[in-house]
Amino acid sequence: MPIIYSASWVLPVTASPVRQGAVVIDGEIFCDVGPYDDIVGRYPQSAVIDLGDCVLLPGLINTHSHLELTAFRGRLEEPHFQTWIRQLIQLKSERLTPDDLLACARLGCCEALRSGITSTADTSDAAAPLDALIESGMRGVVFQETFGPDESQAEEALDSLKRKLDLHFEKISASGRDVRARLKIGVSPHAPYSVSARLFRLTAELAIDRRLDVAIHTAESIDESRLLLDGSGAFGESLRRRGIAFDPPGCSTIRYFEQLGVLETAPLLIHCVRVDESDIELLARHNARISHCPKSNAKLGHGVAPLAAFQRAGLKVGLGTDSVASNNNCDLIEEARFGSLIHRATGLNAGACTHDQMLRLMTIEGARALGLEKVTGSIESGKQADMTAIRLDRPHNSPAYDPATAVIFSSSGSDVALTMVAGRVLYDGDQVMTIDEAEVKRTIDLIRLKLAG
Ligand SMILES: [Zn+2]
Repeated sequence: MPIIYSASWVLPVTASPVRQGAVVIDGEIFCDVGPYDDIVGRYPQSAVIDLGDCVLLPGLINTHSHLELTAFRGRLEEPHFQTWIRQLIQLKSERLTPDDLLACARLGCCEALRSGITSTADTSDAAAPLDALIESGMRGVVFQETFGPDESQAEEALDSLKRKLDLHFEKISASGRDVRARLKIGVSPHAPYSVSARLFRLTAELAIDRRLDVAIHTAESIDESRLLLDGSGAFGESLRRRGIAFDPPGCSTIRYFEQLGVLETAPLLIHCVRVDESDIELLARHNARISHCPKSNAKLGHGVAPLAAFQRAGLKVGLGTDSVASNNNCDLIEEARFGSLIHRATGLNAGACTHDQMLRLMTIEGARALGLEKVTGSIESGKQADMTAIRLDRPHNSPAYDPATAVIFSSSGSDVALTMVAGRVLYDGDQVMTIDEAEVKRTIDLIRLKLAG
């Protein structure tokens, strides 16, 4: 029997807002949406769950996270990007066990669910994020990372990547049908300063051969641009110190990716701060997609990505939080608000990044960027019932004249009252139903002691 969820507003995103609206869920799919009175008339036998003064909207979609790094929140307030990355990798490999990384990923899932996120595209090197996502009930894509700046180690890195992918696929196929429907596996050659040209080529061939989605940290920092242009900058110095040869291509990251065949995979490119009009034209020609991470880009001092130019070129763009090591939280509503404000401030344009545009960016446009738009991203009959309810009765977000304005400009993840994936309530406004949060808290407290100092 279908269940009716009602609230003071429903924002289907791909249709107009509905005042005193209701959503009908049958099993794992949405089967109707409209004004409450009409819906109750059409489904007189169905139970009604009234969420009161809330807005119901599609589950939020985070196009870039690193769940395994959650314990690094606030640990690396280091001003130099290259040192920040080096410390992160060192602390992770020297001080954390696979069980610790699983606790980190579980905490990351709890944080995401508590802030209304139903799908995440997670790039990681460990097995932990996939395990935590299976357990949590969330939807998403797990991008298995590969590293290796030394050309001579490319084959070895590729073999290791293949072994990790095999393990992921085995795990998914051994799980239930619901897991196979929720989670996809992709690959992520980490970044131009940490992956050799040869490894980029081999990974792109593998992705095309196996039809795997690809995500890459791209055109993020000035040091990355310098490395590719003439081998200078902090990354160039670091590679030389380690005795690793790097032949600078003398061009932008996007041109470099074109030369390497990487753009043939129509990749999801994370950041893209340092791109010009001709780069964007190339991206559009190859159907590349963008994960826009405004807070991480700002906090690490990288700059502001040209969101309006991406959108003018017709690129698919979603919002990403990046890791909490550089954010320092995973709150997509805060990300949307910050994104809107920084683009208005830097573009001297109060009409840029409206509440409606930002709402789309964290829902349907995020789904398009991940190739999930037929499955999720809007409240529409036939789509998976991925839904979030946000309270509108708090002192800081009431009165709510327009629900999208109230969500984007006055609310935050802590106002979420319900998070649901495929018709299953994963967060009920009080606790996450699929993960033992008290146990995660105990483990994270121990990890904090390991990472401190
Ligand atoms: Zn990242």
